[in-house]
Order: sequence, then structure tokens, then C-alpha cells
Amino acid sequence: MLHITNPYSSHHAWSDLQTASGFLLDWDGCCAINNRLVPEAADFLRQHQHRSAIVSNNSTNTVEDFLDLLSGEGIEMREDQIVLAGMKALQQAAETCPGPTLVLGDPRMRAVARSLGIDIVQKDADLIVLLRDTRFSYRRLERAVNALRNGGRLIVANPDTTHPAGQGLLMPETGALLAAIRACVDIPTDAVEIIGKPSPHLFRKGCEALGTAYEDTVMIGDNPLTDVKGAGALGIRTCLVDSPPGEFFRRLEKALRTA
Ligand SMILES: [Mg+2]
Repeated sequence: MLHITNPYSSHHAWSDLQTASGFLLDWDGCCAINNRLVPEAADFLRQHQHRSAIVSNNSTNTVEDFLDLLSGEGIEMREDQIVLAGMKALQQAAETCPGPTLVLGDPRMRAVARSLGIDIVQKDADLIVLLRDTRFSYRRLERAVNALRNGGRLIVANPDTTHPAGQGLLMPETGALLAAIRACVDIPTDAVEIIGKPSPHLFRKGCEALGTAYEDTVMIGDNPLTDVKGAGALGIRTCLVDSPPGEFFRRLEKALRTA
């Protein structure tokens, strides 16, 4: 089932998709489930790889992971066409804080942080970077809470609390870890920066990569708040896909062929 956001009728919304210069595509629940490409989404990306960018709140994988996975499916995209919240959060940390930093994330992402020159510490951090840390623990929560209590800043990869894990299951997301931290300590608004959707940062990067104006670009995703509301706030056209997305991509490809 396809939902098109207001103010267009479905007829006009299909023409919106047909006349788009570029496509921003969400990953989890749209192009992929559990990092396995939906076959119809893979077909779409193969067909439109030069005018598509992946814009994802993923914070456990690197751009290289995505390029390898896509390349294995015959989809060749450039690095800048893969816009990931976790990678952008680490880049933001490296560019804005030369001081001691607590990185809550998986070992591979912590290795990326080190490669970017981030000074990783366990205590007395000036900055905390929160990713989807699948080894999150009481001890890590304690470290983050006390660093914030002592005036540290916080960069958060994304505010999502879950994403679909397939077979009707949910995968806890970065926002759920943020909720645990917020349960312990008040964080001043100016001390926290959310990098991922619905913040504008990733959408901007995606459009820059494609060289398309916001109004000529469509964001396709399965989350009404992060994908649709976030992109819509910039004037990007939006399209909400119900899960499973295979049927949507079949209909989209048919509509584009008949345009
Ligand atoms: Mg999604």
C-alpha cells in the first residue's frame, strides 16, 4: 500500500515521483530489512543508481559496508551517495571537539572514531557521542550520565527508539539509549545535537551528493516522522512506504516506466 503525503492527490503524487530529478532512500524498512536488500528495492537502485542516495539513520555500519553490500548486488554508487547518521556523527565530533570524547558505539565504529583522530576516553569526557551501541551496559550508562552532569556535550546519531528487524520483531535504536540517559540526567537543549533524521543534516548531504534542488528531489521512507516530516520541512517531496516495501517499488518502477 502506498501513502503519499499532502497536499497532493495520489495522481499528482505519482507525477511528483515521475518528474523527480533525484531520490533519497531510507534504508531500514525501505530498501532493506536487517541489512538484506529487498529484491525490488535492489532492482530500483540498479536502474536509478546515478540519481539515488541512501539517507539512513544507521549508526553501526560504515560507508564501505554499504558500498560492498550494494556492489555485490550490481549497484555501483559513490561514497557521497551513502549518507549515514553514525558516520556523520563521528565526523561532526572530530570537526568540533578536539578534546576527550566518550564514544558509545560498536567496536568497529569506535575504530572509525580513532581513525578520525577522536581522543577516546572512558571518563572526564568533554563530549559524548551516542550511536546504536549494541554493547550498551550499566557501566556505559554511568559514564555517559556523569560526563553530562559535569557539563559535557552530547552528539546523538539519531532519535529513533526502534527500527523493524523483520519477522515482526523490533530492534532497539539509539533513541532508546538516549531515553535511558535522559532518565538519569537533565540535558540542556543547547548541549545536545541530533545528527540523523528528522534533523536536516542528512537530507542536505543527500541532495548535495545528487546535485538536486530540494523541490526536485523525493525522499522515500517508511517513517512518517523522520523520513516524511523531516524531509518535508526542507521542501523535499516525500513518499511514505508501508512495510513490506516490495510491492511499493514494483508500482514505483511501473509508474516511472510509463512516465
Ligand atoms: Mg526506515
